[in-house]
Amino acid sequence: MYCPYCKEELRVNDGELYCNAGDSYFSKHMEVVFNEAIDNCKDVKVRIPKVENNETGKFFCVNCGTKMMKIESMHEVCTCCGFEINKRTFYEIIERNPHRSFGGRTL
Ligand SMILES: [Zn+2]
Ligand SMILES: [Zn+2]
Repeated sequence: MYCPYCKEELRVNDGELYCNAGDSYFSKHMEVVFNEAIDNCKDVKVRIPKVENNETGKFFCVNCGTKMMKIESMHEVCTCCGFEINKRTFYEIIERNPHRSFGGRTL
């Protein structure tokens, strides 16, 4: 898996996913959410709306490391593999799993 903030490859540290670059831990809960989204990739890919003209999102795809595309506010999808970050997940990543120097400010 890749860090959604900076696409560094996540490693397991004390049983939790850890991004070295951001000094950021992702909780077990987050890991479960990521795994579910990866499982749903194929289904999502089928119904990905036309996002070619949309702006790029904030996050990188946890599954393949590609920059995600923004569908709407706090809702992004990877057009490569179908990995989806919905509003709830988006919020959880930002609020519960802060990352050093994301978006120009320290969380
Ligand atoms: Zn990172
Ligand atoms: Zn992807």
